[in-house]
Amino acid sequence: MILLNNVSKTVTSGSEKLTILHAVYLTITRGQFVAVVGPSGSGKSTLLSLVAGLDYPTTGDIRLDGEYITEMKEDELARLRGAKVGFIFQSFHLIPSLTAYENILVPMEIAGAPKARERAQVLLEEVGLRERGHHYPSQLSGGEQQRVAIARAFSNAPTILLADEPTGNLDSKNGAHVFELLVKLNREHGTTLLLVTHDHALANQADRVISLNEGRIVEDRERQGMGSGEWGMGGKEVSSSTTDSPLHTPRPGEETT
Ligand code: ADP
Ligand code: MG
Repeated sequence: MILLNNVSKTVTSGSEKLTILHAVYLTITRGQFVAVVGPSGSGKSTLLSLVAGLDYPTTGDIRLDGEYITEMKEDELARLRGAKVGFIFQSFHLIPSLTAYENILVPMEIAGAPKARERAQVLLEEVGLRERGHHYPSQLSGGEQQRVAIARAFSNAPTILLADEPTGNLDSKNGAHVFELLVKLNREHGTTLLLVTHDHALANQADRVISLNEGRIVEDRERQGMGSGEWGMGGKEVSSSTTDSPLHTPRPGEETT
């Protein structure tokens, strides 16, 4: 469960203060697949980095599975990220001097994960790269590199996977393959998936689509039932005049689920 309560982010550029995220209230349940859409500069990456605990909000609090990450120090945040969070970037972020297999293995070895070698091999196979483990990133296509990054992000069996435009640098065929893999992992492992995309066709395959504009949630649509293909009634249209009122006020004890 991910809970954001009155989360905002203000940055200072020069002498000017710029609010790049305004009073976000959000509840994302375990296993939900949420697509985040919105124009460039609308705050999508900022939102993800706050949920990942890579940055602190200016106001509000964020809870991951009941833990207030906004009250944690850097080392506690690093521990929580290592235990719960996987992150995938548009530009893969693989280490060029390590093979595909080593890119998956090394973070697990550093974390002291048991049976790291066996697990790295299983993960390689799960993303369809069994024969490519000994190749370096430069020897792999963009789609293959992103699949290595996905395997690495899954190495700690995260409960939350954050993906910031993971198909943004890929052609449509490779993008579709990477997207399908993320959906499969979300379904099979029950991992909560928060995915930023510009591609509305991809976004519409999610359980829920959140639209950002100028740092505000302007629409939040949820699919009616699993696989029904119906959108609407359960979702919320958010007009800019109502953004000061919480979309959701968490009840006491709710974060324990
Ligand atoms: P998106 O991912 O939707 O394109 P971002 O979250 O990256 O948007 O950025 C939202 C806005 O905040 C953009 O206008 C961006 O330039 C600005 N921004 C992000 N981080 C900073 C920062 N550290 N300092 C100043 N402006 C920033
Ligand atoms: Mg971005």
